[in-house]
Amino acid sequence: MPIPPVCNYEGSDYQTSFWDKGGREYEDRTEAIALRRLLPKGGRILLELGAGAGRNTPRYLGFDRIVLLDYSRTQLEQAQQRLGKSDKYIYVAADAYRLPFVDDLFDAATMIRTLHHMADPPKALKQVKNVLRPSGIFILEFANKLNLKAIVRYLVGKQTWNPFSLEPIEFAKLNFDFHPKAVRNWLKGLGFSIEKTLSLSHFRVSFLKRLLPTGFLVFLDSLVQWTGAWWQWTPSVFVKARNSDSNGPHGEQTSPALGNLTLFFKCPDCGSYPLVDEKTYLECLNCKKHWEVKDGIYDFRESHS
Ligand SMILES: [Zn+2]
Repeated sequence: MPIPPVCNYEGSDYQTSFWDKGGREYEDRTEAIALRRLLPKGGRILLELGAGAGRNTPRYLGFDRIVLLDYSRTQLEQAQQRLGKSDKYIYVAADAYRLPFVDDLFDAATMIRTLHHMADPPKALKQVKNVLRPSGIFILEFANKLNLKAIVRYLVGKQTWNPFSLEPIEFAKLNFDFHPKAVRNWLKGLGFSIEKTLSLSHFRVSFLKRLLPTGFLVFLDSLVQWTGAWWQWTPSVFVKARNSDSNGPHGEQTSPALGNLTLFFKCPDCGSYPLVDEKTYLECLNCKKHWEVKDGIYDFRESHS
């Protein structure tokens, strides 16, 4: 099956232009609150999908190990500068449609502001399901097409696409908004059970952000996030899902010891493992491909041989 196109932030100053100087403090702080409410207190190992420059990573400190995965190597280099190269963090450049990890490895996974760029969400979500251990927790954020602004614009005829229909809307190239019910259907179809839903960014309205102190808007948002259990009309939605069944024949597999990183990985091309650690690359003994390891970043995007 062909691999869907990937949205690549290579060379992007996204962290600086969007977060640090882009007036997104309100969004950042409401996400911090949602993560505190949804994340397990800790665990052995967490996978952060679409980690970017590591903006959210310090919020996962209860976990012994954190794998930061992003398609862009330069985003991971920025994360390294922010977080350092300690054993706690493992940096992986890879495609979310071809995850290079053995099944049942992770106690938890997060995907925040990342599904947003997926042309084939069920394909990416299936990958997450495979690498989460049974009962593992998945925190998913998605951009909601059924938001109040889109509904009003549609009803007064200022927007052609229908926010009530289940299909994704691609409002810019490789930028998608999703219907909450469609996301729930994908998750349930894969064997996740949804435990909590929070709606975020109720006050992402520019005149409110200009008029009122950010801390006050964050406080108001934190008071009403729980209404996501009943309705989701905000531009951003967080879901806490649990991997509710085993992953089939591999369900009994026990996680490798945290000390031996090589055992975390499988070949993203042929699925074979373990890979052989040759210091500057990992080698797949089955298909003979080499996956580069350079400056503390495991690179599974393109093989070398
Ligand atoms: Zn291989």
